[in-house]
Amino acid sequence: MKFNTNFKNIAESYLFSDIAHRVNAYTAAHPDKKVLRLGIGDVTLPLVPSVIEALHGAVDEMAHKETFKGYGPEQGYAFLKDSINGAYARKGVQLESDEIFISDGAKSDLGNILDLFDRDNTVLVPDPVYPVYVDTNTMAGRKIIFMDATAENGFLPMPDYSVDADIIYLCSPNNPTGAAYTKAQLKKWVDYALKKQAVILYDAAYECFVTDDSLARSVYQVEGAKKCAVEFCSFSKTAGFTGTRCGYTVVPKSIEADGLSANKMWLRRQTTKFNGVPYIVQKGAAAVFTEQGEREIKKNIAVYQENARIIAECMDELGIWYTGGKNSPYIWLKCPGGMGSWEFFDYLLDGAQVVGTPGAGFGKNGEGFFRLTAFGSREVTEEAVARIKKLLTE
Ligand code: PLP
Repeated sequence: MKFNTNFKNIAESYLFSDIAHRVNAYTAAHPDKKVLRLGIGDVTLPLVPSVIEALHGAVDEMAHKETFKGYGPEQGYAFLKDSINGAYARKGVQLESDEIFISDGAKSDLGNILDLFDRDNTVLVPDPVYPVYVDTNTMAGRKIIFMDATAENGFLPMPDYSVDADIIYLCSPNNPTGAAYTKAQLKKWVDYALKKQAVILYDAAYECFVTDDSLARSVYQVEGAKKCAVEFCSFSKTAGFTGTRCGYTVVPKSIEADGLSANKMWLRRQTTKFNGVPYIVQKGAAAVFTEQGEREIKKNIAVYQENARIIAECMDELGIWYTGGKNSPYIWLKCPGGMGSWEFFDYLLDGAQVVGTPGAGFGKNGEGFFRLTAFGSREVTEEAVARIKKLLTE
């Protein structure tokens, strides 16, 4: 037996364990202090009533011989795929339902999609980055090129034709930077991908936070994208499914090369290695697209959007440079006073008992930056902002 020694090349991620370690040490030394967490990327609001009702209904169906469900279609039930297709149509995107594949979340599909691509592909990822893109390709032994996301380009790197890439990762609105591409910017990426005969792996996990019409809610709102882009979506942040687990990936039929079709390959891959998302979960997910369900999830998203606005307003008042906050649940700020990411982390923990995420944990260009998230409660967000203001103006 020979192990996949590429695993030796995966950088250990100490980011969240380091954070936990420092916070635990602080609370042990200061048991009387209340620590506020604005570092988490997980939602805090419960599932909406329409989803809960649909889940209960599906559980009851499982209890009766007439309505019991065994194995379902690996690529998802038609009722959910059709609902998703309807939502795309409302965004002005025309898809066929068999271009939509239901999964247990975007993370799995982002890793699994690599089964479609030869090891001999050059991968282009932004720095800073959601670590999954880097680690999954490192496991497969692929060559990775980083493109710099910096304050100068608003953390939205644009194509450089002198760089040859085959697989391009774009995430918009972005984790960790909160920055989001306009449709015009994405068109430049689509043009680049078509010219290089590359594929764009477009992570739209945070699309529900987009409110500006100039920004994309789907890469397919850009002409030509169906020929070169696979889109990854999730119910996690849209509808609070981080623990319930459901997502979907769009693999257009028009992505073809070497006599192979990405859509057919993905169907083959999924039918071979995946047995589908539970019927109960898919019923819950479908409820998100009913009129009532949509109204309810929008109310939850609005809570996080308001938190983001409150944090962004605080940065404006303090004259701190940041991206995100609007069209995104993340606020990516430049650490004040030229502090490093971890220096600011300790300063904020010691001085305000507020926990965020050091930008350095997401790549070299994250050094000197810091991520705050809008997924806490309104009360915690307001208190944290008040403490940050006090600390930085005293
Ligand atoms: N993509 C990005 C950019 C994320 O930040 C996350 C989760 O935080 C995911 C994908 C994972 O989504 P899911 O919960 O659907 O696996």
